[in-house]
Amino acid sequence: MKDADIGRMLEEIRQLTEMSATPPKEGITRVSWTGEYVEGTDFIKRRMQEAGLEVWEDRMGNVCGCLRGENPKGSILSGSHLDTVHCSGAFDGVMGVICALETARLLQENGIRLQNHYKVLAMAEEEGTRTEHVLAGSTYIRSCLETTAGVSGAELPDLETKDGKKLWEVIRGYKEAEKIKVPERPILQREKMVYVEVHDEQGPVLERNEMEIGIVDQIRGILNFEICLRGISGHPGTVPMSERRDCSLAAYEICLLASRYVREYFDQEATITFGEMEIRPGSSNCIPGEAVFTVDIRFRHQETGEMIEQKVMELVRGQQEKLGLYATCSMHMCKEPTPLDDFLKKLIGGVCIRQKRKGMRIDSGAGHDAMNFAKICPAAMIFSPCKGGVSHNVQEFVSEKDIQNVTNVLYETILELDKEIGK
Ligand SMILES: [Zn+2]
Repeated sequence: MKDADIGRMLEEIRQLTEMSATPPKEGITRVSWTGEYVEGTDFIKRRMQEAGLEVWEDRMGNVCGCLRGENPKGSILSGSHLDTVHCSGAFDGVMGVICALETARLLQENGIRLQNHYKVLAMAEEEGTRTEHVLAGSTYIRSCLETTAGVSGAELPDLETKDGKKLWEVIRGYKEAEKIKVPERPILQREKMVYVEVHDEQGPVLERNEMEIGIVDQIRGILNFEICLRGISGHPGTVPMSERRDCSLAAYEICLLASRYVREYFDQEATITFGEMEIRPGSSNCIPGEAVFTVDIRFRHQETGEMIEQKVMELVRGQQEKLGLYATCSMHMCKEPTPLDDFLKKLIGGVCIRQKRKGMRIDSGAGHDAMNFAKICPAAMIFSPCKGGVSHNVQEFVSEKDIQNVTNVLYETILELDKEIGK
């Protein structure tokens, strides 16, 4: 049996790094529905066609390549996203697409004809860089499958891009300008399906444990909100320390105590991050009268997420009382944990044992398109390690060996699944 061809996979990953708005050395920027993004989907479509797949694209810019089954009872889906954050690494999303494509080629080169359809997916706007709506591409796929309108498809979600334009107008405008004709129909039909996504871990756990494969147990829930504290700004030389209503100190104390709480009680099962903070008026010569900061909580169990959120709010109330501040909170995102399919996890575990790969169960702290598929069909994720756990960064790196391993696990998983569908 022929193994995954790492040479051609690396070359494809390299070529995709050039479809970027920023120089690849500084990081890859391929934001949905830009020239670079369309270059990327064109490249993938070409490669799919060369591999003998039938190719479709929907109006969201999601691409699907299908290897027809001999006697299909359903479809096995694999893929990931093609869009990136600003100055991303080369592997996030792309690796999952290329692994799925390589699997299609391996099936053909090994002379294997599956009973069921095998569909390779390359999806748009997972990162939400264009719209701030993460997973927008796969959400559209899911809504097409869930709509009662069936194959005529769901309406494009009523989203706006960051610059306030209607999303569907942006997409239509782009296609008209470039004279792109895309059959505007959903890329998937309602049928029996199963979804397996390959991705790099984007964290340090596999590498630290010297593991080759991660079988994702669940995708952690997420609470993302913004807190605004208002006190009184004033002269930094004249107002005594004991009489200040300094919002920056209140914010720092909340962040520090909440981080300590999560670390002390939930170190292995939750995280808290304060990624953005703005101190106003923002002058070295002024007591900060306002502090606005974001809170991102990821958690294994819903109750844990809620406890941490309550702790943060308790700390906010404490500062309000102590300093007489005014506080508001606005929720940005609230998603429960997504458990992945137990049968698939066991099946992938069996493949790892047969291939003698060191694997472990792991949570995903990052959101993935698999969250949408888990709502409509059995879904699983296979992680590869990445160097130092670095991702969303130009330094992101997955070794040749790890790409090859994860592809070989995916390949055998697809073969096993083909026997299971329609049983
Ligand atoms: Zn990703």
